[in-house]
Amino acid sequence: MPTTRLYLPDLLYAEGRAHAGLGLLVDGEGRVAGQASAKSITAGVELVRLSGKALIPGLANAHSHTFQRLFRGRAEGRTGAVADTFWTWREQMYRAAGFVSPEDLYDVARATFLEMVTVGVTAVGEFHYLHRDRDGSAYAEPNLLSDTVIAAARSVGLRICLLRTAYFRAGFERAAHEGQRRFYELPEEFLTNLEELAARYAGVAGVSVGAAPHSIRAVPLERMVEIAALARDRRMPLHLHISEQVEENAACVAEYGATPVQLIAANGILSPATTLVHAIHLSEAEFAAVAEAGSTICSCPTTERNLGDGIFPADVAWRLGIPVALGTDSQAQIDLLEDARQLEYHLRLRDQHRAILDGASASAGSVGDELLQVASGNGYRALGLAGGQLAKGDAADFFTVDLNDLSLLGVDAESLASQAVFAMARGAVRDVAVQGELILQDGRHRDEDAIRERYRDVQCRYISSF
Ligand SMILES: [Zn+2]
Repeated sequence: MPTTRLYLPDLLYAEGRAHAGLGLLVDGEGRVAGQASAKSITAGVELVRLSGKALIPGLANAHSHTFQRLFRGRAEGRTGAVADTFWTWREQMYRAAGFVSPEDLYDVARATFLEMVTVGVTAVGEFHYLHRDRDGSAYAEPNLLSDTVIAAARSVGLRICLLRTAYFRAGFERAAHEGQRRFYELPEEFLTNLEELAARYAGVAGVSVGAAPHSIRAVPLERMVEIAALARDRRMPLHLHISEQVEENAACVAEYGATPVQLIAANGILSPATTLVHAIHLSEAEFAAVAEAGSTICSCPTTERNLGDGIFPADVAWRLGIPVALGTDSQAQIDLLEDARQLEYHLRLRDQHRAILDGASASAGSVGDELLQVASGNGYRALGLAGGQLAKGDAADFFTVDLNDLSLLGVDAESLASQAVFAMARGAVRDVAVQGELILQDGRHRDEDAIRERYRDVQCRYISSF
């Protein structure tokens, strides 16, 4: 018989504000039943004391490519005489994409997902474009690698939205690229495989499926329109990369006479279920079109600075009321609250003054409250998931932080959000719960030793394969 629990921390952050003396009441199905004090609970409610800790809504990593973890820190030097850019980095990404067997992908994904859990992530949007075998042929089960990544997330305990990605071509007037052989499917094949995958996981706890036409570069417009129509019919979230690079905008103008955002806005692809990943190089009018449609922008500041993509003008998004979510993307570093703080810090470097996002939107919350919402609730929304606020009825997805951690000493209810976003060290995260079940307890995951060992084995083989 599942019991109702009261998780009782020193500080509870729920529905956009922090409270002292209240705990989170979670029913037997792992849903938030409200807030209560220890004194007010009735017999039969199990009390889980989280002394010396604060409890915070779980974070949503809305844009991830797990396999890219494999070359972390190994693509930071120059590769040749030319300047290193996004485009030279991509060649290194192809090497990792071409290496992993299904078993390797599982082991890399588990380690990557576990690392996400240790920084407070409870839901991930995996933008998944590895579909074919290493020689480019189809697997007997075309969704084998999607299943593999989903299984890895569920084995760690993480909630996953598998954003099954369409990748049909190397680019406008470009021949197929050997490094992309595992990404390509035929358009009809993609639609069938996406529908099969969605049907397979309908009703499966902790798993959902979305559609992700990779980019206007990799998916021609008429195909993008078809995929968006299917996503709309099936009520799936729709994610795509857009305007990460200036060169990408120029190629789109050459092919269609319009920028990527102009093109998708004019063809009905922008909607409240659409998430644009990166969206850095947009004009004011393009941002206004995104705002008008109610679409989300998923910013990935750590990856964007790593790749030299440019600075996302978060202040414009704030002013226009565009919801912003966050992603770790390339996994160069996994720390979603670091991504949240960089949204503000990049603007300070750009403008040479401070506190740029504070008061830039219509929200009454502090910049800390807003950035916490960006990292949690906005990401849930982008993945088509209810919750992310710890409001009554939400899934009880949360994490706790150690208030005795040196990075948080002296924190109180008023400063909790701001300190969590601007100052907290990753190691302060202690417990993580998904649907009310603790998957990380006092910093430990039950399978972490095995996950480490298997990851190291793949990493060693990858390095010796050069
Ligand atoms: Zn990406």
